[in-house]
Amino acid sequence: MIEEHEELPRPPLGAAMWRGLRGLCPSCGEAGLFARYLRQVESCPACGEDLGHIRSDDAAPWLTILVVGHIVVPLMFSVERFSTWPDWVSMVVWPLVALALVLVVLPRAKGLLLSIIWATKAPGSERD
Ligand SMILES: [Zn+2]
Repeated sequence: MIEEHEELPRPPLGAAMWRGLRGLCPSCGEAGLFARYLRQVESCPACGEDLGHIRSDDAAPWLTILVVGHIVVPLMFSVERFSTWPDWVSMVVWPLVALALVLVVLPRAKGLLLSIIWATKAPGSERD
């Protein structure tokens, strides 16, 4: 563990984004970025970097909708074109597929955006 006041060199933006996408601390990549599903840790347990003050607000849901929509809608049109299943199956399957993808993509989108905000020192902090 590194001392709290020791300043680590910031990684390049791409490395920080890759770490955030995997739910890891954008600074060191050794500890998790989230304490729970979408609640980020106050500070990294490995390097001590303060992360709890960064806010991505509505950007993570926006990115999630963008990604999931671009996966589910073409998939739905492709499958529905040739399927012979009843309408009620479609009305059950596609919302469940979309929900499952949202649950997978949302924390990754938030991790990615938090890491971009952290790496670029962009506004998005409650301290600014
Ligand atoms: Zn760290």
